[in-house]
Amino acid sequence: MKKNEIAEIQTLLSTKKTIVIVPHKNPDGDAIGSTLGLYHYLKQQNHNVQVITPNDYPDFLKWVPGQETILKYDLQTEASNDIIKKADLIFTLDFNAFHRTGLMAPILEASSSVKILIDHHQEPDNYATYMYSDVSMSSTCEMVYNFIEMLGDVDLIDETITTCLYLGIMTDSGSFRFPSTTSRTHRVVANLIDKGAKNASIHNNVYDTNSYNRLQLLGCALTNLKVLPDLKTAYITLSQSELQKFDYRKGDTEGVVNYALSLKDIVFAAIFIEDKQEGIVKISLRSKGSFSVNEFSRAHFNGGGHNNAAGGRSETSLKSTVDKFLSILPQYKDALNHE
Ligand code: 5GP
Ligand code: MN
Repeated sequence: MKKNEIAEIQTLLSTKKTIVIVPHKNPDGDAIGSTLGLYHYLKQQNHNVQVITPNDYPDFLKWVPGQETILKYDLQTEASNDIIKKADLIFTLDFNAFHRTGLMAPILEASSSVKILIDHHQEPDNYATYMYSDVSMSSTCEMVYNFIEMLGDVDLIDETITTCLYLGIMTDSGSFRFPSTTSRTHRVVANLIDKGAKNASIHNNVYDTNSYNRLQLLGCALTNLKVLPDLKTAYITLSQSELQKFDYRKGDTEGVVNYALSLKDIVFAAIFIEDKQEGIVKISLRSKGSFSVNEFSRAHFNGGGHNNAAGGRSETSLKSTVDKFLSILPQYKDALNHE
């Protein structure tokens, strides 16, 4: 962000404001961590602050400090609309286009409040008054740390804020192993630990709270894993009936696609998850090296994200979605084999 923009934001925040903070639909660790980290920072300065998520988030995030104050737009629409209408400032975190907020898109578009975007996804839309967009960042949580630092307030980062920010850096960086993890990421994380983040227990809360059914569902997903060695691709399917069999809960499929990518010599992995309620197949794409799943998803599956992690969707059946995927793949054979 430019110096004059920081100065303008400092001026804005120098008097008490009503502030709404919004992450993307189906919020993940980075979305919840960044919105709540910013929430606690702004709350400390006595602003009237509300985090509104478009919908619910997984149980493995239901311990994060402040999460009990979150309004869920799909369930608390009226209360949410009231505060959005009153907001002086709206922070949009961890997404790059209003449609990523699902049902909230129309009211956000209609709002004339000052908007501040903080995000690390590619090709952000140009809706914000102030844009802090950086696709090289590990996570939006790392950017919230930078944002607080730019405002000259690192000293105000307390244990509660560190817990939120550590969470999102950890989840979005695959526990500090994706290429977006830089020496700076580690320095930020080190500062967070120095300021109180309980790294082992945060990791435990997120990754070691599996249900038996979730592990059985993972077993089913791994049984369905298919490998296309010539295309260095592996993919997984999960049908609605398989999800039901293992009493699927939100978040149960998070990270499953990474097992496909962990195969030796595989550079492209996909998971196709049937959602009959929404009438779609949810797609998660992951890659290693230079093969851009962001471009692949934008071109074929109405989605996007980052070079090595993107989401998408299809409005046809599970079988025809996979057939489409298999029919498209050969045109990428060279790209997939030049990793
Ligand atoms: P996931 O596969 O975990 O749903 O998403 C992977 C990454 O891509 C996340 O950073 C997520 O925010 C982003 N993403 C998922 N779906 C979409 C989409 O439809 N559009 C864009 N721009 N990003 C997406
Ligand atoms: Mn993120």
